[in-house]
Amino acid sequence: MHAACLFPGLLFACGMAGAQVPESGRAQEMRYSAEEVASTVEDRYIERVVGLAADGRLDDDRVLLARLQSIGAGLVRAAVALKPEVAGWEWEFHTTSDAEVDAICMAGGKILVGSAFVRQLALGDGELATLLGHEIAHAVAEHHRETLSEALFLNRYPVVPLEVVMERLESDLSVQVRLSKLSSMQESEADQLGMVLAHRAGWPAADMVSFYRKLSDGDQMALVSSAYPASASRLSMAKGMALLFQSDR
Ligand SMILES: [Zn+2]
Repeated sequence: MHAACLFPGLLFACGMAGAQVPESGRAQEMRYSAEEVASTVEDRYIERVVGLAADGRLDDDRVLLARLQSIGAGLVRAAVALKPEVAGWEWEFHTTSDAEVDAICMAGGKILVGSAFVRQLALGDGELATLLGHEIAHAVAEHHRETLSEALFLNRYPVVPLEVVMERLESDLSVQVRLSKLSSMQESEADQLGMVLAHRAGWPAADMVSFYRKLSDGDQMALVSSAYPASASRLSMAKGMALLFQSDR
């Protein structure tokens, strides 16, 4: 149990709720409800997806789309086993030829993967599962909701609508800097939880290591964030996790 839960009245007063990351059990303090975050993020997601579709750049690689959907379905099943409530989320997988996109996950399980990125790294199915596992892990661990909650707290905003915090988070560099420690921890967490999901979905650990080796070789600033741990340390994490999976058998 989270220590703060000892004061339910206080929690209610500040609108906080406790949450927990599956597997690691890390406690998170949430100041927005999952529903609130999902509906606000969904508006932006729809806007983005509709914009890409209007430009003819959504799901224009049908073969990749089919791979994403079938690999994604297995990973979502593994995620449901860890956190049953994600079964009720509307998971969506899309691909885009927009070269700016490598891979993006939005709250509630909306995942967009860039076809140029997949081609550039020549990702096989197990490697693609590792990439998707990372993105699905962000959703499952509700990192978006946690970041927005933390932004509200760190910046001592009065309780403002979520939309306002989201805009500040996107446009204000100082807010991003103050959140960089959290972001970098979330990236490492998504790497690890993502590998657990890929492992449980039956993908070989060698493919996961190979994915992180490709990132490290190309020194890709992949998976959209300056908050990334150095790619070399991500590769050693992947190797360590692979050893754990082996000893699991
Ligand atoms: Zn990430």
